Amino acid sequence: MTLELVTIPCLADNYAFLLHDGESRRTLLVDAPESWPIVAALEARGWTLTDVLLTHHHYDHVDGLDDLRQAFSLEVTGAAADAHRLPKLDRAVSGGETFDWSGHAVAVLDVPGHTLGHVAYYIADAGAVFTGDSLMALGCGRLFEGSAAQMWESLGRIAALPGDTRVCSGHEYTEANGAFALTVEPGNEALVARMAEVRALRAKGDATVPSLLALEKATNPFLRADLPQVKAALGMEGAQDAEVFAEIRRRKDDF
Ligand code: ZN
Ligand code: FE
Repeated sequence: MTLELVTIPCLADNYAFLLHDGESRRTLLVDAPESWPIVAALEARGWTLTDVLLTHHHYDHVDGLDDLRQAFSLEVTGAAADAHRLPKLDRAVSGGETFDWSGHAVAVLDVPGHTLGHVAYYIADAGAVFTGDSLMALGCGRLFEGSAAQMWESLGRIAALPGDTRVCSGHEYTEANGAFALTVEPGNEALVARMAEVRALRAKGDATVPSLLALEKATNPFLRADLPQVKAALGMEGAQDAEVFAEIRRRKDDF
């Protein structure tokens, strides 16, 4: 395999990701919460950072970029819609477009909801989607700027990717997300089994990210608002999918 994916814990509970192309020796970073763990991960592998993809403008995803710019010559990509509040971009992108990174196609998905300019990046050759604070393991980002309907549509865009896609999301919130998910679907066996694994991983201090998209579809309540059994569990039989999603998001905010 020529593409190597590395998950880097940053700050209190953030993740950044490195993708390294062994042929071209280019290395891509997704999000820059802080610089030192990223520099340490690069140095440990003898890699030079060449590219950065930003998912959204929040400080815990961009604040490490200035330091990295000083240490490396970087090509930085982010959402055109948020160019005014992101660090200076070398490539401004929009949903639906695809660009080349080191001979690999990077598809840009618009995923508004957490912020309006939030994007995700899908790299089929890496079998990975970088979702930031949109789709998370057993959860999704809070709705700071967008509506529930927008986030539901955004998650649908990600859910349409192949089931074996690794979901590289921005935070280690999985255990708390899962505790909430169990209140929505206590009888979901896949969820119960996953939570046992998540608790075991966290007890050892291990990451639960990346996860697999197929597993998210089977266990993440925010991807399951269209299912009759989920609507029934919430007493919302016959309600619109987006309304059910909004109710799940509301309950999570109060959980
Ligand atoms: Zn955020
Ligand atoms: Fe965040």
